[in-house]
Formats: sequence, structure tokens, C-alpha cells
Amino acid sequence: MTSGQRLRQIANVLNATTLLGLLLARCARTAVRPGPRGLLIATGYRWPLPFAQAFTVGNVVLFRAQAPEALSNPVLLAHEERHSSQYAWCLGLPFLPLYFLAAGWSLLRTGNPGSANVFERLAGLEAGGYLGPHRREKDNVRNSKGPNNKVRKRGGQQNGRKAGRKGRRPDGIEA
Ligand SMILES: [Zn+2]
Repeated sequence: MTSGQRLRQIANVLNATTLLGLLLARCARTAVRPGPRGLLIATGYRWPLPFAQAFTVGNVVLFRAQAPEALSNPVLLAHEERHSSQYAWCLGLPFLPLYFLAAGWSLLRTGNPGSANVFERLAGLEAGGYLGPHRREKDNVRNSKGPNNKVRKRGGQQNGRKAGRKGRRPDGIEA
């Protein structure tokens, strides 16, 4: 673990968000195991909210998938890890209202909670699944309301992309 990762781990213990994540993981009856870089991996999360294949509370990353699948997706884990760092930077719990404000702003602007959400952008939109099927919705909104009303990024390649990522849920209201 690097010193930065250690610092994040300590910060999220002290600001109580890792404890909150563990409580949530326990209430949702997930299996928790130590993960890389000071993270804790909870798998088999089944509650309906949030609409995300994974989300993070403190240093706890909760996956809907079971362990083999969750642990074989380093790109998504890296995305969630950035959210863990965001908790530390926000001093813990303030991350949550800030995140929901950013998600609401994004929803108003783009029709989905991720594309214009500063936390998701910093965590990586593609890694978080935001550049999949939602891309078309986002562009349609931009085409109708945005400052540049040019028709962009519409057409057949979106269908191919959508088909290619079928079954992958955008990681919506994720923390
Ligand atoms: Zn995310």
C-alpha cells in the first residue's frame, strides 16, 4: 500500500464512512473480504438501490456481482477506488450530499446522473459504465438543449455499441 492509500484508509476510518460501509454491507448480507490498496470488497449486494453494479462507501466497495466476477473487473474497481479517495477528500460524510447534488445537476443537464457529475467525471465515466447506452441519451439531450445544436454522434455505431454492452447497467446513483 502506498502512503496515500494508507492515508485514505486512515481518513475513512476516522471519518466513519468505512464503518458506515461495513454496516451497510452487513445489513445487506454481503460477503466482505480484504481487497487491494486498503479497500474492502463486499460482494453479492442485492438491495434495489442504488441502480449501480457497484458503489462505494468509505473504503468499502459493494458489488452486486459475486466475488469471482467482481474481482475480475479491475477497471470498475479502480473507478470505485477513486470514489473512496473522494470520501477522504470530502472529510467523509459530506461526500454524500455533495455527490447527490452533483448527480441531480447531471440529471437535469444530461438526463442521467453521471455524465455531468463532477465526481463521476473525476472517477472516470467510461470505467463507471457511463459511456455505454447512456451516451446516446446524453447526446440527444445535448442536441435539443445544448449550446451547440448540431446533430452529433447519432447513428448506427451507437446501436452496435449498445448491443455490445447489453446487460451492463450504468452505474447510476452510486457513491
Ligand atoms: Zn462512479
